Amino acid sequence: MLNQSFNGGVVIDNPHPVDTVGIVSAPLPDKVVLPLQQRIGDEAIPCVKVGDKVLTGQVIAKTEDHFCVPIHASISGKVVSIDKQIIPHKSGLKSKCITIESDGKDQWAEYKGCGTDFLHCDQATMIEYIQSSGIVGLGGAGFPAHAKLEGIQDCHTLIINGTECEPGIMCDDALMQHHPREVIRGVEILLHICGAQRAIIAVEDDKQEALNSLLMYCHNERISIEQIPTKYTSGAEKLLIKALLDIEIPSGGFAIDTGVICQNVATTKAIFDAVVDNKPLVSRIVTVTGSGVESPNNYEVRLGASFEHIVSMSKPNTHQHTIRMGGMMMGVDVKTTSVPICKITNCIFVNKLETKPSTQECIRCGQCNQACPVDLLPQQLYWYAKSEDTDKAMDYNLADCIECRCCDYVCPSHIPLAEYFSFAKALHRKTTEDQYRTDIARERFEFREYRLERNKQERTEMMAAKKEELKKKMANDKVQKDKIAAAMARVKKTKKANDDA
Ligand code: SF4
Ligand code: SF4
Repeated sequence: MLNQSFNGGVVIDNPHPVDTVGIVSAPLPDKVVLPLQQRIGDEAIPCVKVGDKVLTGQVIAKTEDHFCVPIHASISGKVVSIDKQIIPHKSGLKSKCITIESDGKDQWAEYKGCGTDFLHCDQATMIEYIQSSGIVGLGGAGFPAHAKLEGIQDCHTLIINGTECEPGIMCDDALMQHHPREVIRGVEILLHICGAQRAIIAVEDDKQEALNSLLMYCHNERISIEQIPTKYTSGAEKLLIKALLDIEIPSGGFAIDTGVICQNVATTKAIFDAVVDNKPLVSRIVTVTGSGVESPNNYEVRLGASFEHIVSMSKPNTHQHTIRMGGMMMGVDVKTTSVPICKITNCIFVNKLETKPSTQECIRCGQCNQACPVDLLPQQLYWYAKSEDTDKAMDYNLADCIECRCCDYVCPSHIPLAEYFSFAKALHRKTTEDQYRTDIARERFEFREYRLERNKQERTEMMAAKKEELKKKMANDKVQKDKIAAAMARVKKTKKANDDA
């Protein structure tokens, strides 16, 4: 087991543990709602219309942007609407979605990939399959997987992140336990694409079954499996790299700058499906847990099915609930369980509605400083954020705050520190943008003044030059006139002399 770790972080046991981490296959939903706006990039443009019949896995929307991935029908049936629907976002905003009503047949569009003997395929073909299958980071980031793999150079280590991002989430644990072969083969595909000499699969030390399953299928000496201490936020990319390789990614830098690539374990399995079969991503494993359900579990569910579709399978109790997409620490509260499951929905927390403890004054205990996994000083940052002194907060590296809420979690005064930091960052961005706009406006004004002054000066110079030219011309004209007058006088004189003679 790996001994290295990072400072700070918090150890939180799964608040709703289960005896066996399984995966239940959720029934086909009657309808799916597929948002056209994905986590990153432009809104996709539908390539179907209302009334069209679609097959499972058929592309129903796409963008011209090579960075984005297409959207596939996750069931077969009929397109019944293309309109705005509530999506899982804390704003509760509506966004354009395609709704498909199931025909109950789940008829698939044809797909064909490299096959199990994938090593004969070149990297470009594999990346093309990963994009066309709609693979994005399934750990919660939603970053298109192909974009992370294109044009890679000098990658020495591939890290497969098998740590659950937050306490209570079990979907990656379930995936490693039940799909170890696909995970290991997926790692081999990624090694082939990125050219790294080695891959490390990181698994938390409380996931022994997952470790055993992976070990059973791992016969490739370029792949090792490391256990890391179960501690929140060990799943954060930079912290994981620090813990495994003792490599520090500088502020604002990327893992690949140091020759390292990270992929989530569920994304790795999806990449296996994409490359071997070119099978579109139409489902994912989602954990349903929390104090509001009797039976926490993991469900393999079609994308676009409602939260309710699987929450109901976990036997919600009769209390009033709050619903949160993602983990208990960094998840996003949503207003209703009618919103659709999307590619980044790794967990649905259903909790009993509880009164939050009231916030007290900071007692300067310093516990938040010890808990911060990125070595910030939250206590100090709090004062600057509270007084809206964002410049000072930035001096104290506010930009490096990953809003993990470890500081909130340990704060005895229940101060929502991460909220302050999120607000301070937004305020700083706005101030900087405002300052930028002011600078631009001032520069424009100054340039206009300069331009007007310059025009005036040029006009004066031009007038002076013209005047001078005219003067010269007039002087010239006088010489000319004198010459003509002299000539006339000579003619006159000659004529008179002739007349006298
Ligand atoms: S943990 Fe809370 S009370 Fe203690 S120093 Fe930090 S902000 Fe203040
Ligand atoms: S929210 Fe920010 S300041 Fe607080 S522990 Fe996490 S990284 Fe540190």
